[in-house]
Amino acid sequence: MTFLRLGSTEEDQTIADAVARFAQENLAPVAQAMDEEAFSATRHVPGLSELGVMGMNLPEHLGGPGVTPTAMLMSLVTISRACAATSSMIGAHYLGTDALLIGGSAEQHEQWLPRCATGEWLAAFALTEPRGGSHPADMRTKAVREGDEYVLTGIKHFISNAAESRFMIVFAKTDMEAGARGVSAFIVPRDLPGIQISSPEKLMGIRGGHAFEVSLEGVRVPAANRLGEEGHGFKIAMKVLDNSRLDVAATSLGIAEAALQAAADWANQRLVGGEPLATKQAIQFKLADMKLRLEAAWGLTMQALALRQAKQSFSQQSAMAKLYASEMAGFVTDEALQIHGGYGYTREMPLERYVRDARILRIYEGSSEIQRTIIARSVLGY
Ligand SMILES: Cc1cc2nc3c(=O)[nH]c(=O)nc-3n(C[C@H](O)[C@H](O)[C@H](O)COP(=O)(O)OP(=O)(O)OC[C@H]3O[C@@H](n4cnc5c(N)ncnc54)[C@H](O)[C@@H]3O)c2cc1C
Repeated sequence: MTFLRLGSTEEDQTIADAVARFAQENLAPVAQAMDEEAFSATRHVPGLSELGVMGMNLPEHLGGPGVTPTAMLMSLVTISRACAATSSMIGAHYLGTDALLIGGSAEQHEQWLPRCATGEWLAAFALTEPRGGSHPADMRTKAVREGDEYVLTGIKHFISNAAESRFMIVFAKTDMEAGARGVSAFIVPRDLPGIQISSPEKLMGIRGGHAFEVSLEGVRVPAANRLGEEGHGFKIAMKVLDNSRLDVAATSLGIAEAALQAAADWANQRLVGGEPLATKQAIQFKLADMKLRLEAAWGLTMQALALRQAKQSFSQQSAMAKLYASEMAGFVTDEALQIHGGYGYTREMPLERYVRDARILRIYEGSSEIQRTIIARSVLGY
């Protein structure tokens, strides 16, 4: 059962409960094996699609199930409780489809999004390059106009879903000298000649959420696949990241909830010196601090969501929610492992997986340092 959250409706909770049931029955039982064997979380796409999850960020006229951002966020929390790798795979799909939704024309929407909503097509979002993800305006991938086409050349790194995607939203410079204003965004079908995709990176955590290096060598993309005007790509990417940072916050909340529950169960059942661990004040204080930070992260996340739903600017709130929730997940999963003692350090239990899964949340979609920069700029009025 999902708890009542300020700002959520009964309908949001009914949707999240249905997703939670699916996640417990279908995702949780294979989460450990997915981690061990690193098989792709895309195996869950058909089941998730039946519940409308793959299109939750899309409007009904494009095939979305017509749920609120709150229902979507709460659904992602329940998925992450069961399997964070699956939530990461869905998040990458939302990155790609959100970029198309935000930057694309009605024609592009019609052509590409309905089949993404049904899960038939998977999307990817290719912004990061080997020379640095934190400063994307410095990218080196270029797009040169030749008649009705652009020719794309460059390398993108750590692109989730790339190998399994139907298309990637690729960000490339149409003007090398113009910094962020020189970036444009393109819908790039994955099977175009000139695209090479590596084998999946060997990741520390979320091992079912595959990420790849993508090489583009003279890839010819129709000009009709450009999103918006030339030079508008960076703005599109930043808007997408405002949304997706809340998805990362949701994943953080889900992992932390699972870890806290495991820690409480363990504290109640584990006997030390003939008494349950839960009777020790030092353990109770740990659990209290974990719960406190978890609830504070929920508060920041719901506040950012409320602004998003009210169509107000929420970049700063989204950065705060992502930063706080991801750091909270690091703290809570580590404390939960500590409460389990040596057992927590083994692969017999999911605690060490929670720690590894939570670690990426402080790095991708803008590292903690970059979130602090965004928040500070806002405080300083830049
Ligand atoms: C599993 C995984 C999946 C990913 N999926 C995608 C994806 O689907 N699409 C995509 O485009 N990218 C994706 N990424 C890339 C991810 O967003 C980047 O790794 C991230 O933005 C950081 O970039 P970087 O790794 O190049 O680190 P760098 O930018 O090299 O940064 C290294 C360190 O320096 C710090 N740093 C950098 N600049 C500053 C600064 N100005 N001030 C203070 N500190 C700074 C950073 O915070 C970080 O700690 C993924 C990454 C991983 C690991």
